[in-house]
Parts: sequence; structure tokens; C-alpha cells
Amino acid sequence: MTDVAIVGGGIAGASLAIALGRRGCSVELFEARTFPRDKPCGEGIMPAGVAALQRLGLPDGGGGVPFRGVRYHHGSRVAVGRFPSAPGEESCGRGQRRLVLDRQVFDIAVATPGVCAHTAVMVAGPEVENGRVVGVQVHGDVRRAPLVVAADGAHSRFRHRLHLNVPVPRSRIGARRHYRLAAGRTAEPWVDIFLGVGHEFYVTPLPAGEVLVALLAEAGAVSQPLEPIFDRWRAAPPGLRQLLEGAEPVSDLLATPLAARARAGYAPGAVLLGDAAGFLDPITGGGIAQALITSERLAAFIDTHRGRNPDTWVPAFERERQALLRDYHLLTRGVLGLARRPVLAHAALVGLSYLPSLFSHLVGVSAGTRSLTPPFRTPRA
Ligand SMILES: Cc1cc2nc3c(=O)[nH]c(=O)nc-3n(C[C@H](O)[C@H](O)[C@H](O)COP(=O)(O)OP(=O)(O)OC[C@H]3O[C@@H](n4cnc5c(N)ncnc54)[C@H](O)[C@@H]3O)c2cc1C
Repeated sequence: MTDVAIVGGGIAGASLAIALGRRGCSVELFEARTFPRDKPCGEGIMPAGVAALQRLGLPDGGGGVPFRGVRYHHGSRVAVGRFPSAPGEESCGRGQRRLVLDRQVFDIAVATPGVCAHTAVMVAGPEVENGRVVGVQVHGDVRRAPLVVAADGAHSRFRHRLHLNVPVPRSRIGARRHYRLAAGRTAEPWVDIFLGVGHEFYVTPLPAGEVLVALLAEAGAVSQPLEPIFDRWRAAPPGLRQLLEGAEPVSDLLATPLAARARAGYAPGAVLLGDAAGFLDPITGGGIAQALITSERLAAFIDTHRGRNPDTWVPAFERERQALLRDYHLLTRGVLGLARRPVLAHAALVGLSYLPSLFSHLVGVSAGTRSLTPPFRTPRA
């Protein structure tokens, strides 16, 4: 029997498998799809995520293209939020295709001693005995483990099967497409955010002269099919229109409903990780970093409490996870509130454009390197 079974070989699941394998645990990792596999994402890795990828064994933090922070565009107003920096701290994010990033991380998991990684294996659900998860159901078989980690993404089937799902109204949707820029045009090293009414566009610089254009929108503001509205809205902000002049779309438009909630982060014998544990909105763009950081913490808990019944320590891990993500969630709620009130958003951007160090600090909260609580200059441990 393995020590830990992990459902989902995305960023959260694969990085946990690597960290556990390195700590001498035996792990079975199940991924439903094969790599390279794509997923709708803004593809901006925040600095704390870049640092975590370096610790995983990707010296260049997953490669990609560095960016210095975010620039919000509203009408003619631009507010620039640069990632804060301190000695020894990663101060750049990176734009990288999920096709590339997720495969790199999964490949390290495959090569890690102690990790048995499967692709094209869909976990059907938890195996439950006497109210406790004792393993996972795979191809009509049961794979037993003292702890099952569900890292199967925002729309986690495992969370649903454990009755931990909280239905949320489909209030926002996300969609994205990649473009190859016309010859002579280059994206600047920033994630550019163009605020519209009821929607925002994110533009992330990527390798090979490509950019990712992601739309986040109120579900009530979009009509189906999505493509005509995506094209119409993206042609509106002058800066975005100019950048994409002559650009060629190089991927399909992928869309997904946003937001997923969990009633609790664990059940007897099982714990949720990454987006499966709840996903508020990608408006502050830190999901990849948060998945990596919380998987590092879970690996440390599993190692420290080896041989003990996980039910005795998993609640403590969940409290720590919540505390780690508290500021990020507060910031995300605040930015979401502003996105829904364009007049207020404009006023906030005007204010922040005069307060670059405060703006930089707030961007540092989304980067995973700063906290909201004073003292303002202390990087998060
Ligand atoms: C529109 C949009 C834009 C975003 N922009 C950004 C951004 O710019 N920066 C950022 O940091 N984050 C962003 N995010 C968030 C980021 O994509 C997620 O937080 C991150 O991918 C979470 O990783 P994960 O491993 O938890 O889940 P996932 O990456 O979704 O991985 C889950 C894996 O589980 C597998 N799986 C599912 N069910 C099963 C099963 N039953 N059996 C086996 N395997 C299964 C799936 O195939 C998948 O590979 C964005 C998200 C969206 C939707």
C-alpha cells in the first residue's frame, strides 16, 4: 500500500508528489489526461510561484517570459503596479504556456523516486469504508492509501463525491486564446489588464512572440456563442487593439465557469488541495503560486506526522492553509468588488497611480510575497 494517493496531476497534485517522493514517501499519482494537456488559464506565474518552481527543480522557474508586475488600463488612465523586491527574493513573474509548464512539472514527478505516476487514468471516486476514505476507485479496482489528496481542479468530482461541494451561482466566466504577434511587435514585460464594463482582459507575454489574452466576465454580460463577443470586446481598448493588429490566433478559445467552493477542506482520510479546495476568481492571478505553496506545506505536514492517523493532523494543515491564503482571498474579494463598480475602480486606479509603493505592496500580496497586515515591508515567510 502506498502512503498517499493523489487524484489529479496538475500543478498542485504533481508538485505534491515530487515533494513527498523527495521526503521518502511512496505516492500514487493519477492524472485523467495525457501531457501535454491544456487548461484555461491566464498563464501568469506570480513571483512566489516562480520561486516554488525553482525549488522543485526548474532553475528558470518554468522558463517562459519574465514580467515585472501588472498595469491596469481604464480609459486613458494606466496604473503600474511593480512587484516589490527584497534581497534574495524573486521579483519577476513569468508567462508560460500551461501546455509546457504542467508537462515540465509532471515529468519531474514521473522521475522522482517513490512516485508512481499514471496518465490517462481517471479516478472514478473515493473508496469509503465506515465513513472514512480508504483509497480511490480506478478502473473498477480499489487502490488503498492511508491518505487521499484530491487535487482534481476547480470542478473537482472528488469534492462532489465527498459531499464537500458548495454549489455556487455561475456568476463569472473565464475564456482565453493565444495570439502570435505580427512581425515587429513585442509585448512589454507586464501583465496588462484592460478594464471594461462587466469584463476585464488580461494580456500575458509568452515565449516565441505569443501573448495570452484572457477574458474574465460577469456571466450575465456575455451571450453565446462567446467568440463574437470576445472578438468585439477585445477590439475596444486602444492599447489591446494596437498590440493585436495583424496578430494570428494560435489556439482555440477555451472557456470555463469561475468560482468553486468547498464546505470543508477535508473529510476523514482525505484532504483537498489546489483549486479543488476552493477557487474564488483568477482576477488576482495567483492560483498557480498558491497551489505550489500549499502543496509544499502539505508535504511538510505529511512528513512530520508520518505513521500517525492523518485525521489527527489534517485539520491543523487546513487551518494553516486558510491562514496562508487569507490575505490573497481578501485582496481578491476587494478587486472583484471594484471590478463590479467601474466608477469606483477608476477612482481606485487614479489613487493608486499616485501611490506607487502602496500599489506595489498590494501587487506583492497577489504575488504571494507580501501580507496585508503591517509591518508592510516584511516579506511573508
Ligand atoms: C480563466 C482563468 C485564468 C487564470 N489565470 C491565472 C493566472 O494568470 N495565474 C495563475 O497563477 N493562476 C491563474 N488561474 C488559476 C490556475 O489556473 C489554477 O489555480 C491552477 O491551475 C490550479 O492548479 P490545480 O493543480 O489545483 O488544478 P488543475 O490545474 O485544474 O489540475 C487538475 C488536474 O486534475 C485532473 N483530474 C480531474 N479530475 C480527475 C480525475 N477524476 N482523475 C484523475 N485526474 C483528474 C485534470 O485533468 C487536471 O490535470 C486562472 C484560472 C482560470 C480559470
